[in-house]
Amino acid sequence: MLWAGFTESSMRPSAHQFAEEKAVVEKPLDSTTKYIYLSFDDGPLFGTSSCISICEDEKVKATFFQIGLHQSRSNWGKKLYNRILSRPDLFLLSNHSFTHTYGKYVQFYQQPDSALADFMHAASVLNTTNNIVRLPGNNGWRTDSIHFSSKMVRPLIQKLDSAGFNVLGWDLEWNYTRNGRPIQTATHMANLVDSMFQLKAYKTKNHLVVLMHDHMFKNEADSVQLLQFIQLLKYGNKYQFARLDQYPGLKKQRINNY
Ligand SMILES: [Zn+2]
Repeated sequence: MLWAGFTESSMRPSAHQFAEEKAVVEKPLDSTTKYIYLSFDDGPLFGTSSCISICEDEKVKATFFQIGLHQSRSNWGKKLYNRILSRPDLFLLSNHSFTHTYGKYVQFYQQPDSALADFMHAASVLNTTNNIVRLPGNNGWRTDSIHFSSKMVRPLIQKLDSAGFNVLGWDLEWNYTRNGRPIQTATHMANLVDSMFQLKAYKTKNHLVVLMHDHMFKNEADSVQLLQFIQLLKYGNKYQFARLDQYPGLKKQRINNY
């Protein structure tokens, strides 16, 4: 995998870039470093606040894939959205569609033009400044270097690709119960991360994307699990945390476009 994509960076120039560069000097990027991309989907929801606070306290980078409808429907949602945006050194806020298909996945993907319009609407509501999206309920990928999708979502992925978007899925999901609570323990998840690196079970060498959902951490007992998971991953300095705009091989962002 090309490392140039990481160092040249799709990061926007900002004051935080200097902090980023300093971090690079302190810990040089090389093909032996293992990167973890924590990603939280479907916010803003109950639980988003815990995800933000825990990542801030632990100083780990993460990506929040937000739903336009959730962000736009309340001041409460907008506050959470603004908290994420206020930490560009740690967080990336990306597009997870406007409607999340309203639960009608098949129809959504069967109508790629209206699905693309749904993403464009979310981009305008969320005012995203990056060209990264994640499909609702589907682990499809499309970057410069990764083409991975089921037949059902391929027409939409092609349209998103033509419109300049990178589509990013995940390598490992922390599953949840019907009530939205985490199924696996933090220890089990941290062991899975270790195993996946050992087994090279990732799309890009030494880069692992972990999917979680904000709502899983709405209860105190469950948010402790998230904290423990992060602390286990930090233990021994085996891994470096990154935002998904740092993922290698992304399509470059068009100027004044997504
Ligand atoms: Zn989702």
